[in-house]
Amino acid sequence: MLNLSNFSSFFVANWKLNGNMAFINDYFDALNTKSQNCVVVCPPSIYIDKIKKNQKNIFAGAQDVSKFISGAFTGELSAEMLNDMDVKFCLVGHSERRQNFNETNDNIKLKIGNLINNNIIPILCIGESLEEKQNNKTTEVLTKQIKEGIPKISNNENTIIAYEPIWAIGTGLTPTINEIDQIHVKIKKIDDSLNNYKILYGGSVKSSNSKVINEIDSVDGCLIGGASLKIEEFNNIIS
Ligand code: PEP
Repeated sequence: MLNLSNFSSFFVANWKLNGNMAFINDYFDALNTKSQNCVVVCPPSIYIDKIKKNQKNIFAGAQDVSKFISGAFTGELSAEMLNDMDVKFCLVGHSERRQNFNETNDNIKLKIGNLINNNIIPILCIGESLEEKQNNKTTEVLTKQIKEGIPKISNNENTIIAYEPIWAIGTGLTPTINEIDQIHVKIKKIDDSLNNYKILYGGSVKSSNSKVINEIDSVDGCLIGGASLKIEEFNNIIS
């Protein structure tokens, strides 16, 4: 498993259901490989082997993994298979999977356990909806997602948390810098064991706001959707 303490910041590109071979070739021709930060590219799984990773700071990530280990589960990809393909990170519990694919905290817990057992670092995505925010339920929602989703085997060396308010994903809206800081600090206080976890922010990160977001003390990097598909934007963000 990768040593997370080798890096001060993590930038994770979530391509979602986008990209093809031509896109990948152009992307990696242009990607700034000189960044000192940890850069993780999560393409659709069929392209994972095409990601031009290096030993130093550019790694392949997956967008999801099976909760099962092996067997008669058509369409699934196991943590062991991802490890076999040199995947170092995997998103778990992205809000799009929670909303569109009935991802539950119980499933998420199993997935995180499978990943850690196969030397892959899970990036657990948590976040509240707009309605939950407006009803002052943010802390309650995040606490439930963390308490029910993180297995005992997790610790600050093998698991990353990404705070992604659902209302900020793909909308151009973001919380204020103060709000991001306060929520990240609160997350660390949900349980004593969370104090030293790396916590990323995700939701409408682009080159014009990434620097100020990443300068927040309690932010250890960003999870980037839309802007990660534009290589110039992404290069600016990871630099
Ligand atoms: C995401 O979906 O994880 C995400 C952060 O998307 P965007 O950057 O497009 O808001």
